[in-house]
Amino acid sequence: MSILQWPDKTLRKKSEPVTDIERRLPAIEEMYVLVRAKRARGLAAVQIGIMERFCLVQYGDDYLCLINPSIIKTSEKTSWMLEGCLSLQEGKVLVRVQRHRRVKVAYTDLAGEPRTVKGTGVQAAIFQHEIDHLDGMTIMIKGGGQVITPAAAPTRAQMANWGDSHRPNRRARRAR
Ligand SMILES: [Zn+2]
Repeated sequence: MSILQWPDKTLRKKSEPVTDIERRLPAIEEMYVLVRAKRARGLAAVQIGIMERFCLVQYGDDYLCLINPSIIKTSEKTSWMLEGCLSLQEGKVLVRVQRHRRVKVAYTDLAGEPRTVKGTGVQAAIFQHEIDHLDGMTIMIKGGGQVITPAAAPTRAQMANWGDSHRPNRRARRAR
């Protein structure tokens, strides 16, 4: 199984809803093997050339398969994140993107049951990154095309000064 690499045009296409989960189980199995081997944060079907709306996301110590996921709630607050992508120089570079700090996702599980899951911080960013893939959105488009090598990655403090980033206000938090 090979992973499409940016700027492959397929990565900019919108995926169609999954209608037959069973038919996709072999691909999902292979995707599990792949993300575990690469210790990836996630992988969307489009990245292996399947134009249907499913993806794997790192969740706790394992991975979660999201079928037909959609973000149903987001926080207004956003954070700058540095993200890599297996479709961008095989994850060896980073791109700065802005993400909602919290999201709630509705999806169908492998048994066909409707479910929801919430994420904060990095977990929220992983959900947004993979669901973006299903809409043909990549970090290269979102991040304006600038890549950063890990060696040149800014510190958290520098990222906090990038503006438009709403860091949790310590005083407000204490007041609660
Ligand atoms: Zn990606």
